[in-house]
Amino acid sequence: MSLKNRLVGTAKRQMKQTLRPVLQRAMAPKRTEIPASYWGLEQRPGQGLCLEGVPLKALVERWGSPLHVVHMAALRRNVERFLAVPQGRAGGCEVFYSYKTNPIPGVLSVLHGMGVGAEIISAYELWLALKLGVAPERIVYNGPVKSEASVREAISRGIQLLAANHAEELGTFARIAAELGKRPRVALRVSTDSGWAAQFGTPIAGGAALRAYAQARASSHLDVVGLHAHRGATIRTEGEFTGFVEAVLAFTDTLHQELGLDLEVLDLGGSLCTPSVEHIAERDWRLNLTFFRDVPAPDPDGALGISRYVALAVELVESHYARRGRQRPRIFLEPGRAMTGDTQLLLGRVHTLKQGDDRTWAVLDAGVNHAECVRNEYHQLFHVDRPDAPASRVYTVVGPICTPGDTLYHAKRLPELTEGDTLAIMDAGAYFVPFATSFSYPQPAIIALDDGKERLLRRAETFEDQIALDTVTGAAATPSKTEAA
Ligand SMILES: *Cc1c(COP(=O)(O)O)cnc(C)c1O
Repeated sequence: MSLKNRLVGTAKRQMKQTLRPVLQRAMAPKRTEIPASYWGLEQRPGQGLCLEGVPLKALVERWGSPLHVVHMAALRRNVERFLAVPQGRAGGCEVFYSYKTNPIPGVLSVLHGMGVGAEIISAYELWLALKLGVAPERIVYNGPVKSEASVREAISRGIQLLAANHAEELGTFARIAAELGKRPRVALRVSTDSGWAAQFGTPIAGGAALRAYAQARASSHLDVVGLHAHRGATIRTEGEFTGFVEAVLAFTDTLHQELGLDLEVLDLGGSLCTPSVEHIAERDWRLNLTFFRDVPAPDPDGALGISRYVALAVELVESHYARRGRQRPRIFLEPGRAMTGDTQLLLGRVHTLKQGDDRTWAVLDAGVNHAECVRNEYHQLFHVDRPDAPASRVYTVVGPICTPGDTLYHAKRLPELTEGDTLAIMDAGAYFVPFATSFSYPQPAIIALDDGKERLLRRAETFEDQIALDTVTGAAATPSKTEAA
């Protein structure tokens, strides 16, 4: 490096260090933390943060660290909100949980026990739903890849809804249906202007979705009963949801007018937010990285909640159909993150504190290998042992895996940490477990906290588990294919 570059580098570093405290204060966001009480956590003297009277610290002492904790009361509360019939309405929505969001059998079976069906997107998930005893009429099958064997299984069992992600799937559905002498209940996934498109669904705009419906209706082997629309882009406001539903409803009018098709099922997909989680805006991320400015916390009370979302879905669909004098279709919802996101937390421990020039690194035993979403979403972090000590120090909170990408929080103000302290990453119930990687470390245990009692839902992976499928010499006698193929 030239002398000039070195001088410029030093000057930049010094400027950042001088500006940091000024900007940290001057540009401090209004809200930087969500209170622990939001999740039903309470602080007890000498015990730190407790959930249902159980100190979180004691959980890692008993079950090991890191540790996933499922809060069953919160899970049941969310289910009840989704299944409630909104005030003044004759009926509510039918709910199918998105398996991929948090595929823990001990969680899924609680949902099913309360009347929630399964929204699946793979052959494995179909297998899992059937294994968990989900009735075929409580299964909706989506996704861009459906193996022939799984389509055959789905059709022969008579699942509730088989949704074609794109028109090209219809030929396979019809051929298998003809072979089996069955007539599956089919929907087509459509995409609106406000949601994901790309490989997902057939666009309403330009008439492609209408043509796909005409094609589907031409097959005598398919019973075209539904429309499927999953926004993909997270829904946080009434306006976002209303705009999306109105685009879908306008298309149902087109189907009625052009094809004489009256839908029995309107599947509005998922995408409702977890209120206490929000994608970190690029600008906030940069300010945090450069000037250690706190990342603003989302306002959970300002987000569209489950009850209002369900009420709005029913209201919008009912009034649309009432105006046209037609009977409203059944409304299906496929929540993922909104159902389980805020019902789980990830505990980890501070392994090492490493002192740098301008910060301290807190190296945890859990990183992006178990909490990938924390890289770009706001997730509240609590110091479990001393939650209300003043957040006096800035830490860069990193995980154990050997890549600079394993940074959970670039600059996080926390109470003074010491090695062995326990931290809680909140809202770990959506896309943490399924996105986990086994990069150098096995997977942690998952426990349920239910009415103050602990139950093991998944034991921690052992080193032996990590190599259980391997043969060192490559001497396996019979080729084995992945089941999804
Ligand atoms: C992933 C997915 C969902 C759930 O999405 P969330 O954003 O977690 O609510 C629902 N439906 C389909 C088709 C999906 O792919």
